[in-house]
Amino acid sequence: MTNTLDLPTVLFVLQASYIAGAVAMAYARYRSRDAAGAEVIAVGFLVLAAGAMVASNAEVDPALHARLSLINITLGALGYALLLVGAVELSRRRRFRPRWAVLLPPALTVAIGLWTDFPSINWLRAIVFNLVAATAMLTSAWVFHRDGRGEPLPARRVVALTFSAAGAVSLTMALEFTLGRFWPSPVLAFVILLTLMFTVALSVMILTMERAVAKFDRLAHTDMLTGLSNRRFFFDAVPANPGSGDAIVIFDADRFKKLNDTWGHTVGDDVLQATARALAAHVRSGDILARYGGEEFILFLPAAGEAEALEIADRMRAEVASTVIGGATIHTTVSAGLAICPKAGTPLQELIREADAALYDAKAAGRNVCRVSRTAEIDADCIPAI
Ligand code: GH3
Ligand code: MG
Ligand code: MG
Repeated sequence: MTNTLDLPTVLFVLQASYIAGAVAMAYARYRSRDAAGAEVIAVGFLVLAAGAMVASNAEVDPALHARLSLINITLGALGYALLLVGAVELSRRRRFRPRWAVLLPPALTVAIGLWTDFPSINWLRAIVFNLVAATAMLTSAWVFHRDGRGEPLPARRVVALTFSAAGAVSLTMALEFTLGRFWPSPVLAFVILLTLMFTVALSVMILTMERAVAKFDRLAHTDMLTGLSNRRFFFDAVPANPGSGDAIVIFDADRFKKLNDTWGHTVGDDVLQATARALAAHVRSGDILARYGGEEFILFLPAAGEAEALEIADRMRAEVASTVIGGATIHTTVSAGLAICPKAGTPLQELIREADAALYDAKAAGRNVCRVSRTAEIDADCIPAI
């Protein structure tokens, strides 16, 4: 590969790949808020492309070498500062403040460059350029890795890995220039860099895609009003044939139509939210609570058995009954119907039917009570709270 490619061609392809990467990331940002920060990386890529263009010209025009070299290293410092800030924003999902801090590395480069004239010495400029690149890329990788605790998406590891690889290559190049060796050769080094930059752009796109999928997945399984899981999630998560002792509870808000008619639907919505919170307060890990529909909620209690299921359901019922909204003015109660799975293999739908029938019993018994399905052959008495 190194024998057949010449440096100007590789530099040209590098510039083209920076521009293609920038366009792809700008489009990702335009399409999704999950890609916030990608636009800063895109600008960083464009600045690096401009820097590479200046570097090519510096070699063909000796009269302008010093000036173009200074511009080249300054654009490099700006480009990598933008890459780092963009990576931090993308990883943290919020703005880096102050954003003008990206101007510090290039400003410092100009000051030191004018003072020492180091950019006109090619090998020295190469060392500084690669050290700046390595710092930006390795710091970005570390940020992506560290923030993974708050957002454990697999794509984060890919992003962190590609940024680390790009950083490692830059560090190797800085070291090689320092030691006066040239492995990898400039052509090979640029080809590796080109591939890694392309992978960086691709991994950023994959991360934003994974974010969007995770968000849609969450939305598809969440009830908008109460924030509880929805019916779809419930049927995805609960086994179609529960095991012996698993319990289903259906809660239904009492006389909710009257509450709506008296106070209006907005207040009704607030009451439903408060009811959901009260029910959720007693959910244990492994239990599944969801909004079943309208003013109904459904609960799955794995291996609870009748006594425990009844105890939990009644605790939830009492919690709702003691919840008040708008001072002491508005409150609601729920009635609950329970069904306990008598033997493994009983279809979930049959248990739900039984719980629903028990709910009718609870309503008939005066509401604000729990009742267990008659077919489950257990004592259905549950002491009403009031
Ligand atoms: P019961 O004690 O027998 O269950 O009487 P109920 O009035 O609660 O039962 P009914 O089925 O007659 O009425 C349910 C009411 O719940 C009617 C509907 O307007 C209300 N409802 C359902 N979903 C929502 C919602 O999302 N927001 C509000 N505010 N009301 C809702
Ligand atoms: Mg109802
Ligand atoms: Mg009701």
